[in-house]
Amino acid sequence: MSAAMPSLPSASGSVVTRFAPSPTGRLHLGHAYSALLNARYAAARGGRFLLRIEDIDATRCRPEFIAGICEDLAWLGLVWEEPVRRQSAHMADYRQALDRLSALGLLYPCFCTRRDIAAEVARSGAAPHGPDGPLYPGLCKHLGESERQERMASGVPYALRLHVDRALALTGPLVWEDAQAGVVAADPLSLGDVVLARKETPTSYHLAVTVDDALQGVTDVIRGQDLFHATHIHRLLQALLGLPTPRYHHHRLLTDENGQRLAKRAGAPALADLRAQGWMRADVLRRLGLEA
Ligand code: GLU
Repeated sequence: MSAAMPSLPSASGSVVTRFAPSPTGRLHLGHAYSALLNARYAAARGGRFLLRIEDIDATRCRPEFIAGICEDLAWLGLVWEEPVRRQSAHMADYRQALDRLSALGLLYPCFCTRRDIAAEVARSGAAPHGPDGPLYPGLCKHLGESERQERMASGVPYALRLHVDRALALTGPLVWEDAQAGVVAADPLSLGDVVLARKETPTSYHLAVTVDDALQGVTDVIRGQDLFHATHIHRLLQALLGLPTPRYHHHRLLTDENGQRLAKRAGAPALADLRAQGWMRADVLRRLGLEA
């Protein structure tokens, strides 16, 4: 294990890790880092390494990127367990989780467009912000039941949001264990009433990832520091859905020579481009500080 990944005391039972990319583009070095840490963590403990394709967003995911992901991971020398779970094939699992949350009275329909939300945030002047921007200002949270029913019946699209404060009142305080940060007090209010389902996508990243990690028996979630805050919500969903809590390892994010975070959006070169330029697997490992 590299210095970047301090290990936690080994848990009882076999370790299961997963690399869970969204096939919205080709993998870059940041993905390679995450995938390698996951595979090595499992291998060092005689555990299992899974690949999961997070393709719930039908508008952005493309089959050729799934093929590209497999090609890149194989080039890195990684071997994952088959079958690969594709989230788009498991909507019924997420529906079941939504139904459970709904039966607990923890979901509410939100009819706001992005523009409605932006206007309300601008109007209120001091809207609380979370790690991903302003929190949902709660426009639809207190609609009366008859208005809700009327709007739903009218056919306008709506999302389902989690009533986070009500949910927390039900679970009480929660913690999770993070390899770097230690015991972390879950603070789901810091993300506000997140969307758990939309009309065109009847689940969300938060819901699908939480359900899948449990269904696949993942013991150690190893992912980038950018998802640290998301864990506050994942921990809450685990408590509400009666799911186990894995250990979390949020690793550093890779940066380029200017200190900019490597990201697809910021034009980070794809592994496939580096390969075409003559990079070998050993060059990638060296760049990542993961020489065997
Ligand atoms: N699918 C997510 C992504 O590509 C990662 C999910 C996770 O590791 O929890 O950013």
